[in-house]
Amino acid sequence: AASTAISAALNAAARRHILIKGGRYLEEVGTADVVCFDKTGTLTTNQPEIRAMFNVDGVTADDLILLACTAEKHNSHPLAHAIRAEAERRDIQPIPHDVCEFFLGRGVRSEARGEEILVGNAKLMRQFDISISPVNAAYEEFYAQGLTSVFVAKDGKILGAIAVANQNRPDVVRIVRRIQQDGTEIAMITGDEKCSAMNLTAQLNISECHYSVMPEEKSDIVRAMKAKGKKVLMVGDGINDALALAEADVGIAMGAGGSEVAIEAADIALVRDELTGVVYVRSLSRETMRIVR
Ligand code: ADP
Ligand code: MG
Repeated sequence: AASTAISAALNAAARRHILIKGGRYLEEVGTADVVCFDKTGTLTTNQPEIRAMFNVDGVTADDLILLACTAEKHNSHPLAHAIRAEAERRDIQPIPHDVCEFFLGRGVRSEARGEEILVGNAKLMRQFDISISPVNAAYEEFYAQGLTSVFVAKDGKILGAIAVANQNRPDVVRIVRRIQQDGTEIAMITGDEKCSAMNLTAQLNISECHYSVMPEEKSDIVRAMKAKGKKVLMVGDGINDALALAEADVGIAMGAGGSEVAIEAADIALVRDELTGVVYVRSLSRETMRIVR
């Protein structure tokens, strides 16, 4: 009888395009003590918007977008989507490139027409010894507004910064409140910087906020929670979340736009990319376990 109830529940979830990779995860997902959310692409949409740009003298906004969309051509990160969408709006085609490297939690590096292009955050610029001081005033202004700056550099020189606004998923306030209402703790774990991270946790009344976190550190945070005896549910969308998704007692991956790697590492996949699936699987889990026990 128990296995019938569980397989009926797995089927019900599948009809809603929610793939649960085993009865064990259905059992566990309803009783997590803490739900950890990634920010970008999870609590926020994977369609962020470019709000402002700053370019150094002799460089145009079109130049920045051209370089940025060239480097981001094959990237699944929400910031890459935003940059490609902007390139399309401006009718800018990426330059064919020879080399393309991803730096998780930092950005991308590529080589095109013999030029080296770097697109990413301050950590990436530091890693390649690129001074961001020519764009620092703009960066600080963007930062204060809670915008995420994407720096663009070519051949060792900073050329500008693109300020991106993340949009909250439309139902995020309700979903977070629903989870908090049954006494479950919530934490946000993001690779983004303090200001935009804290902006969001303040809006959502989430008291635990981990920011500027590298992918390995995301899973360290999850492991530390488990070491305190907590059952941890992790929800994420990116390659950068894969380790944490695997480490958590239950990992839930967002579907569309997110990364295949995240979906593979997770125990549950929200194929339709609807965050409300988190609330749905938790209720489904509890109902099913009531029948089973
Ligand atoms: P989150 O944990 O919120 O999903 P990530 O770990 O994916 O964020 O990214 C952290 C930061 O790394 C981003 O805010 C951005 O500054 C930078 N970054 C990551 N990937 C890219 C990319 N493809 N292009 C530009 N910047 C990136
Ligand atoms: Mg993400």
